[in-house]
Amino acid sequence: MKDLEGLFKHFVKDIYYAEKQVLKTLPKMARKATSEDLKEAFEHHREETEEQIENLEKVFEILGLKPRGVTCDAINGILDEGKEIMEEAEKGDTLDAGMIAAAQAVEHYEITRYGTMISWAQTLGMTEAAELLQKNLDQEYAADEKLSKLGEDSLNREAA
Ligand code: ZN
Ligand code: FE
Ligand code: FE
Ligand code: FE
Repeated sequence: MKDLEGLFKHFVKDIYYAEKQVLKTLPKMARKATSEDLKEAFEHHREETEEQIENLEKVFEILGLKPRGVTCDAINGILDEGKEIMEEAEKGDTLDAGMIAAAQAVEHYEITRYGTMISWAQTLGMTEAAELLQKNLDQEYAADEKLSKLGEDSLNREAA
């Protein structure tokens, strides 16, 4: 990683690994969700995550690299913490609230990475790669907002 391009390539591999781990986790979260809206949100974001992985594969192609991930310790830690919540919280509103918190931690990690990578891609003159990454970032923002809203709804239900 001697220059910005090397760093960028490393981050593409890192987020590729992260998205693949997220893809495996979202169906488990959907299964455990009690609220139908939350279930649908997880399922929908799983579909989006498949698209995101395809977008990243296009970025690999632009870079002349084979799509291959490198271990992302950050996503592993965030997902481990989520697993812990899923094991310990009782099914129902409490588990839903815990999973929303865990999922938002994932979204925020993705948002910070895509934000950085987009500005690097622009600096490197890789406009098409920047556009592909922007598509992913837009979906992460939308997913995060949706989760915030579902969290508020469920808290309002509990307070009522
Ligand atoms: Zn859908
Ligand atoms: Fe993602
Ligand atoms: Fe990472
Ligand atoms: Fe996401």
